Amino acid sequence: MKILRLILGDQLNIKHSWFKETNEDVIYCLFEMRQETDYVKHHIQKVIGFFAAMRQFSEVLKAQGHSVEYLNINDKENNQSLIANLSFLIKLHNIKCFEYISPDEYRLDKQLSDFCEDLDKETAVVSAEHFYTERKDLATFFKGKKQYLMENFYRDMRKKHNILMVAGQPEGGKWNYDKSNRNKWKGDVPIPDYLLFKNDVSEVIKDIETAGIKTIGRFDNKTFPYPINRSQTLKQLKYFCENLLVHFGDYQDAMHTNEEYLFHSRLSFAMNIKLISPKDVVTTVMNYYRKHGDDINISQVEGFVRQIIGWREYMRGMYWTFMPEYKTKNELDNHNKLPDFFWTGDTKMNCLSKTINNSLDNGYAHHIQRLMITGNYALLTQTHPDEVDAWYLGVYVDAIEWVQLTNTRGMSQFADGGKIATKPYVSSGSYINKMSNYCVDCHYNKSKKTEDDACPFNSLYWNFLDDKREQLGKNFRMGMMYSLLDKMNKQVLQSIKKKAQHIIKHQDDY
Ligand code: FAD
Ligand code: SF4
Repeated sequence: MKILRLILGDQLNIKHSWFKETNEDVIYCLFEMRQETDYVKHHIQKVIGFFAAMRQFSEVLKAQGHSVEYLNINDKENNQSLIANLSFLIKLHNIKCFEYISPDEYRLDKQLSDFCEDLDKETAVVSAEHFYTERKDLATFFKGKKQYLMENFYRDMRKKHNILMVAGQPEGGKWNYDKSNRNKWKGDVPIPDYLLFKNDVSEVIKDIETAGIKTIGRFDNKTFPYPINRSQTLKQLKYFCENLLVHFGDYQDAMHTNEEYLFHSRLSFAMNIKLISPKDVVTTVMNYYRKHGDDINISQVEGFVRQIIGWREYMRGMYWTFMPEYKTKNELDNHNKLPDFFWTGDTKMNCLSKTINNSLDNGYAHHIQRLMITGNYALLTQTHPDEVDAWYLGVYVDAIEWVQLTNTRGMSQFADGGKIATKPYVSSGSYINKMSNYCVDCHYNKSKKTEDDACPFNSLYWNFLDDKREQLGKNFRMGMMYSLLDKMNKQVLQSIKKKAQHIIKHQDDY
């Protein structure tokens, strides 16, 4: 019986049980499609990365003896949509059974389950064999609880998987070393050269140009720097353990004009397309720590483990608990547009200019840049979450909806009314100054509020709190900020609001 098995572009898991044995009745298929390149405008490096990794993956499968149907973006037979391509291959090979790996995106999950319902063939869906948790585990864990606190989920994960635990208690005596993860990087702790791969992607670029795919962002050096196969991913992980883990936690929240990556792992793209599983990543890091524990503080390791077994699994669980409604949430009733400078980096605000230019140059910004610079600004300027989502989903090489949406609409924009974050992640210029050197060379003055050269974040911050009093005034974590706002002289507040409204109206002049 001929079986067709679909592998989506983010399902490049060579360890999947599907590939353990070869079977001449099984045909694997992978498609480069306009359906996927065009549902949002992606960064050029994101499209390149996906196509390059998919092409390599199909070669690995073939070398292992599997049959593969690979449709290149410009192939004549390519119908450019998932369903049309599947229908074409089913007919061509007289397929009797269609199987697919459970997709992580709601959109594709629905498309494939609808397709199978109408298909007059045997069908089967199998696990991606990637995550620690199943789709609905988080909903079960929080059933009957009022709040979906990540910390509770994370502690449960630590216990369940026996990670950093000693006799049922957290190793080192604390669950969380978040407070030691807030150092400013001042250049005194050296950062080793980054491991940047030199993947020749000239063929892929040519194909993208021939297809006329519209993209955003920049790509100057013509070699793709992130891992696109398993062996590169393992090298990247080893490099992280040997060079960056030692300070990962310390400088997790730091930002610097000259250092785009600081001590971050840059593993998100590889992990999200499943070149490596989170279990493999955590096990490797833990083994390294066990061997080199004298040189590495537990706070560095706990900080890293928390991101993977905590935040990453939590975000996926929240996505599957609340989709599809989650995608329409706008609890703060924000309606403005993003300014043009999000696509050019052309702004006098140094923090935004650096973060946006990093994003446009590398398809990357680290977590605090995404949260406290671009995300903070978009929220303070009361931007519609649809606008913010489209930008984040497009601009980062690691952006796939299950992890982008929950981080952007939830954690960063508070559009879910506080399901993911217990308070909005907003700040004035003082936080940015505390965690970075951006303000030193900025056109604006971090300490001023209303003058021509005042830092825009300062007036935007107080204006936001004042505008959103109805939705946020009763949030217990905002109490201190609202009592400061209440004590503010009314005239001063009026001039701050006037300034903020001017900024919101003329964002591209700032
Ligand atoms: P490191 O700092 O080295 O962290 C290690 C790993 O932990 C990451 O590779 C990632 O897999 C995981 N991780 C860390 N933080 C998170 C988090 N909040 N949620 C889920 N996983 C996390 N991450 C994505 O993978 N794709 C996205 O589209 C995405 N969009 C984001 C949008 C916003 C507004 C924000 C605030 C965060 C977003 N993140 C996203 C989370 C985080 O910023 C990235 O995972 C991280 O910057 C990737 O770089 P890294 O691999 O060097 O991470
Ligand atoms: Fe950003 Fe304001 Fe600092 Fe300039 S002064 S870098 S705008 S926070």
